[in-house]
Amino acid sequence: MGQFTRIAIDGPAAAGKSTIAKILAKKLNFTYMDTGAMYRVVTYYCMKHGINCQDTKACEAVVNDINIELRPDNTVFCNGEDVTRAIRTTEVSGNVSYIAAMKGIRLVLSAKQKEFAKTHNVVMDGRDIGTYVIPDAEVKIFMIASVECRAQRRYKENMEKNIPCSIDDIREDVKKRDYIDSHRDFAPLKKADDAIEVDTSPLTIDQVVETILGIINKKLGR
Ligand code: C5P
Repeated sequence: MGQFTRIAIDGPAAAGKSTIAKILAKKLNFTYMDTGAMYRVVTYYCMKHGINCQDTKACEAVVNDINIELRPDNTVFCNGEDVTRAIRTTEVSGNVSYIAAMKGIRLVLSAKQKEFAKTHNVVMDGRDIGTYVIPDAEVKIFMIASVECRAQRRYKENMEKNIPCSIDDIREDVKKRDYIDSHRDFAPLKKADDAIEVDTSPLTIDQVVETILGIINKKLGR
């Protein structure tokens, strides 16, 4: 094992990855990195500037104009603007998978993620962390849950955050994103061969945390 410990958490949309990753990072005193937020910021920026999120050339042309900041209090900034809430809208969710399928965008964002992982104890969540960003991560988890369960959880979370949405739209968004994310050519959503799958459908947040902490301690020999 190297100097730093890297925990990769991947899985489909709304499987609870970020909720669990944040709690784990706090308990382990590691840094949490939400890679999905980075793709959401690029999507937000393109939409704000009237760029079609399915126009690869136009989106790739602006990726280096975007300064993404993931702050320790989990707020997210885009060129100095607080976009923590703005990146979670139904509109951004509906476009983000197109942006994330663009190789020129993935190369820029994943280079930042790879760089960060070299110098931090990190819990990183996304779609390609265990397969592409940190293929040699000390611990790899692949979180899954049924579509219905994920849609219900995301709906409840949005209601709590006052983000307007409908359960039918969320269900369709989750299915659409999973399809696009797992069918793209470059770094698709995929379980790494050596990742441990955790089905969170029947579990509470505390139970998922307990299960994954057990896996981490075993893997790290603690
Ligand atoms: O994790 P979250 O649902 O916020 O991610 C938003 C979108 O960003 C995903 O649907 C996916 O298209 C993309 N993503 C990705 N690779 C990552 C993280 C997120 O393609 N490592």
